[in-house]
This record gives sequence, C-alpha cells and structure tokens, in this order.
Amino acid sequence: MNERGDFIAASLQGVKERIHIACHKAGRDPMEITLISVTKNFPASDVQILYDLGERNFGENRDQEAREKSAALPSDAIWHFQGHIQSKKLRSITGWADVIHSLDDLSHASKIAGLLLEKSLSVFVQVSLDAPDGGDGRGGVEPARLTEFLRECARLPGLELQGLMAVAPLAHDPAEAFFHLAALRREFAVEFPQLVSLSCGMSGDFEAAIAAGATHIRVGSSILGSR
Ligand SMILES: *Cc1c(COP(=O)(O)O)cnc(C)c1O
Repeated sequence: MNERGDFIAASLQGVKERIHIACHKAGRDPMEITLISVTKNFPASDVQILYDLGERNFGENRDQEAREKSAALPSDAIWHFQGHIQSKKLRSITGWADVIHSLDDLSHASKIAGLLLEKSLSVFVQVSLDAPDGGDGRGGVEPARLTEFLRECARLPGLELQGLMAVAPLAHDPAEAFFHLAALRREFAVEFPQLVSLSCGMSGDFEAAIAAGATHIRVGSSILGSR
C-alpha cells in the first residue's frame, strides 16, 4: 500500500483499539458497535482504502459529493447521510443513502416516504440536546416534540425508524448529553420498540458515547486526519 494507505490503516487500527478499550470499560461487546467512517471532504480513493481494509460503513454530509463517491465504490458499501437535509436534495439522497441519521423535520419525512417506491430506508431521528433557547444550530427535534414526531414517522410507509441520533452540544459535557440521549431512547422504546439504535460519538467523544450505550459512532478525523 502507498503512504496514504499506511496512514489510514494505522489510524483505523488506533480507533479500533480505542473502541475495544471503551467497550471493555463499559462491559460491552465491541460487536455491538458499528463504526461509521466519516469520509466527507476526503476523496473516493480514501474510501476505497477503507473498503479494502474491510470497512463497509461510510458517513457523508453532502449529497453531490456522496453520490459521486458511492458510484465509485462497490455496491455492498453502506452509505450513511448525516448532514443538514435540504428538501430539494432528498430525491437524490434517497438514491444513494442506505441510512439517514439527521431527520428532524416532518415535511422531510413525508417527502422521503413519497420517494421510496419499492425500497425502504433506515432513519435515525436527530434529537436536540440543547436547552430550547441555547441552541447552537446543530439541528434536531426538541425532546418535548419527540412523541408527536415519532408517531408521524411511524405511520409513513418505507421509513424504518431505527434509533435516535445526536451531536453533543458545544456548551455541555458530552458524557451527560449522551446519557440523556440514551435515556430518551429507553423512554421512547416503550411506544416505539423499533428504536433499537443510538447514533452518537465522534472522534473527540466516542468513548463517552460508548459508555452511554452508542451503537453507531461516526468517526472522521481520527481515521482520515484533518482537512
Ligand atoms: C463531521 C461529522 C462527524 C465526524 O466528526 P469527526 O470529529 O471528524 O470525527 C460526525 N458526525 C457528524 C454529524 C459530522 O458532521
């Protein structure tokens, strides 16, 4: 492998070791954790390196960039959309994405359902963990609105609710935020048992997310470096 390949192989290995240590501390099985390599801003050749190293889950934030990369990779790669959703991009996004992590608008949910003909799409509902007045613009449904939001989503054909997602608010301790998200999942799983997954944790805070019960961690810079 070339120099870039060596770099990515070593940093991927480092991330996997961190996952194992965090799971050991939390008494969890590393098999419970899906590592999503966040490949936004990096070329398809980097995604191919990760694919050749055995990775299959890739996270992207922008439609056009992801559409091009997904076309260049083997078809068993699993593509996760985790960016801000623009309604006019949804037709394209549903064409390449296997999972959407950032659903926080009911008009988007019904539009997605209308675009899915034969297939279905897994979705995480993004939750805002900020105080309503202290929002830092990271998106998400307010916890107080989650019941209504999930009821509407659960009625839509083709949308497979899979779990809750959050980005730790800048102003709070990420561990506290992730435990809050995990508690919300447990609470809402009573009415929505299909909410089995928890998408949280990035390069700087995924150990805290694993401790709280994350099943999907989204890791970019610790694997690919910064850009
Ligand atoms: C970019 C991004 C990540 C990855 O962040 P890193 O700090 O590079 O690991 C995870 N989740 C979302 C929603 C992102 O936008």
